[in-house]
Amino acid sequence: MEAMNELYSDIILEHNQHQENKRLLKIYTMEERGHNPSCGDDITLQANIRDGVIVDAAYTGHGCAISQASADIMIDIIKGKSVKEALRLVDLFLEMIKRNITDEDQLEELEDAIALKNISNMPARVKCAVLAWHTLKEAVERGEIQ
Ligand SMILES: [Zn+2]
Repeated sequence: MEAMNELYSDIILEHNQHQENKRLLKIYTMEERGHNPSCGDDITLQANIRDGVIVDAAYTGHGCAISQASADIMIDIIKGKSVKEALRLVDLFLEMIKRNITDEDQLEELEDAIALKNISNMPARVKCAVLAWHTLKEAVERGEIQ
C-alpha cells in the first residue's frame, strides 16, 4: 500500500511539473471557468469540439498541485474522445472519488487519473481533485457546446 501511494503521488507530481495541457487554444467552441473557493483553485477550461468530438482541449488558471495535476490528467484522457465518451469518463472519475466504484479493472480506463483515487481519504482536497471534471460536466450540461 505504501509503495502504491508513492507511485500515485509520483504521477501527480509529474503532471504538476509538466503541465502540457496548460495553454490557451487559438480555436475553441467551449470555454468554462471553474472555481473552488475553499482552496482558491481557479481554472478555465477550453475545448474545440467538432462533430461531437473533442478535437483539442486545454486549461489555464492557478491553484494547488492537486487541482492543476487533475486538470492536466483529465485533458490527456478526454482529448480525441467524443463528448459522450468524455462525459462517461468524468462520471466514472466522480464515482471513483465517491468510492462508489473501487474495482481497479473498471477504473483502468481512467489512466493516470487513478492516481487521485486516495484523495477520497482527504475530504478537504476532494474539491480540488474534482474541479476540472465538474467544470467540464457543467459546461456540457449547460449546452455550451456547439
Ligand atoms: Zn486546491
